[in-house]
Amino acid sequence: MIVRIQDSLYSLMSVLRSADLRDIIDILIVSFFIYKAIKIAKETRAEQLLKGIVVLLVAYLLAQIIGLRSVKFLLGTIMTSGLVVVVILFQPELRRILERVGRAKMPFASAETGSESWESAIPIIVEAVDNLAKTCTGALIVLEQQTHLGEQIATGVWMNAEPSVELFGNIFFVKTPLHDSAVIMRDGKILAGACFLPKPQKEELIATHLGSRHRAAIGMSEVSDAIIIVVSEETGTVSIAENGQLSRGFSHERLTEFLREKLLPEEPTERKSSFVRANLFKGGSKHE
Ligand code: ATP
Ligand code: MG
Repeated sequence: MIVRIQDSLYSLMSVLRSADLRDIIDILIVSFFIYKAIKIAKETRAEQLLKGIVVLLVAYLLAQIIGLRSVKFLLGTIMTSGLVVVVILFQPELRRILERVGRAKMPFASAETGSESWESAIPIIVEAVDNLAKTCTGALIVLEQQTHLGEQIATGVWMNAEPSVELFGNIFFVKTPLHDSAVIMRDGKILAGACFLPKPQKEELIATHLGSRHRAAIGMSEVSDAIIIVVSEETGTVSIAENGQLSRGFSHERLTEFLREKLLPEEPTERKSSFVRANLFKGGSKHE
């Protein structure tokens, strides 16, 4: 066994000695991907699975070094078929990861569009939300960003309307045909009403006092970069779901500032991130 370990160390040393710049870049890129994978795994239920895979890999390597051929064959077979099982079990997580990669901002990407339309839409949205909150009228307003929400828009009623305080009031007025479900906005326009939003992936982690409206907002924010405004029918509380997290208790000023920071790209990005951090803390626990 000691001879085998020595052999492995010698071959490792010779690989390191013959490495050139290209190999180092290669290793750095792979390390970066592994680091990212571990980070994502820690945020999801994949953490336990990752630990299991590491244990299997270590056992496999030990079996190889010691020369336990049957154990190595068995572990190798488990790992090969396990890959298919992992893909099936973690399909939602894998989808989220690929969507995140797809919408990652490239350094050379062009400036966001639609900011002028958001400029005029923001005060209208805030005033409408104020009215809805005062009258305890339940509402869900999805502000689409880079991820296009065609799937959710298809479940609703196409509107393509200029926003107005009165229109929002009408849409969410109880007992009207569109009041149930969500409104989706794109580039400052109301694209569709009565849209059905997806359920969150980790329902069990969400506080039990939050009902299906707030859960749908969290669910939508998990699979897209949309900002979702929720008005509670029970309390009139205004909340925002973003990146799978819910922040509660937005006042008129806080909502205006938040939406301006998020939707108007010309404002300094440093201020933007510090504002969001501050508000997530003000909003209490993540899934409060
Ligand atoms: P509230 O504080 O307003 O009571 P809640 O989080 O307690 O909100 P519910 O009381 O269950 O939620 O609200 C039910 C309403 O939420 C539904 O009538 C519908 O309008 C909306 N809703 C629930 N699920 C979805 C969904 N998946 N997509 C869009 N709208 C939804
Ligand atoms: Mg409720």
